[in-house]
Amino acid sequence: MAATKVDEQGYKLIAKWNGKKYDLDVHKEYTVGQVRKMLQMLTCVQPKRQKIIGLGKKSNLEDDVTLESLQLKNPHSFMMVGCADEDVMLDQSQIDAMPLVVNDLDWNYDPSEYEEMIADVENRQKLQDTIKNVDISVINQPRRDKKLLVLDLDHTLLHFKNKRTYKRPFCFEFLKAVYPFYDIVVWSQTSWKWLEIKLIELDIFTSTDFFISFVLDHSAMFTVRSKRRKGKDGKLWEHQVKALEIIWQKFPEYYSARNTVHVDDLSRNFALNPNQGLKISKFEKTSADPNVEDTELQVLQSADI
Ligand SMILES: [Mg+2]
Repeated sequence: MAATKVDEQGYKLIAKWNGKKYDLDVHKEYTVGQVRKMLQMLTCVQPKRQKIIGLGKKSNLEDDVTLESLQLKNPHSFMMVGCADEDVMLDQSQIDAMPLVVNDLDWNYDPSEYEEMIADVENRQKLQDTIKNVDISVINQPRRDKKLLVLDLDHTLLHFKNKRTYKRPFCFEFLKAVYPFYDIVVWSQTSWKWLEIKLIELDIFTSTDFFISFVLDHSAMFTVRSKRRKGKDGKLWEHQVKALEIIWQKFPEYYSARNTVHVDDLSRNFALNPNQGLKISKFEKTSADPNVEDTELQVLQSADI
């Protein structure tokens, strides 16, 4: 770690990786390559595997670029994605055995449950705790007078299968079309590690036609109890939700119930904000009929949402 004092000669950089934050005190003349080496010491992610997002306007910065030339804020937050050496060494069978998506079953969510759910004291407490604990790392700043589009990842934008990421047809066309009107957020139920792998595979950060505002993983979700009972023992069904209130409270000047749309293939994720939910069909890459192309995102693009 550099011992440079943070003053007019230096920057305080805050790197977010794998759900954790790392502080780096660096001199203004440091290069991106030097920052990569510092990140390697802290995270064990080799420089060639690091993808740095939000340090400059470009997502793939050359190693010889100096920090001084990047017009950074001080402190300046950015995100690093990439697998640590120990993760790369994981046996493929171990990776295959890890859950990619938790409990993928869905039922037709009944919005009439909303009133009870939001009134439930325990649910309200969990919501407040999550709002307090979730730390959002902004990659691209919110823009004035833009609406907010929250997009699920698995089976909405892609299908991750047999170690491969299959992008949903019209995915980038859709994102490009909505970007002039919406700030875009990706919210996935997977862990941060899988989220990183999938987003890198999807190549979502390299497009210059649209920019992702920030990304949320399963740590921003919490469990609510449905009033429905299931099984022989009639247990109340519990499930996780993506509560948009978390985002609204973090960015009250920009986003609210009036200007947010949440697209997801699981309607239960809308349980606390059914008015903003838009259920999309589940995208699955199958070899059953390669001639039938999924057009959900193309249809959504042309819809007046
Ligand atoms: Mg999904």
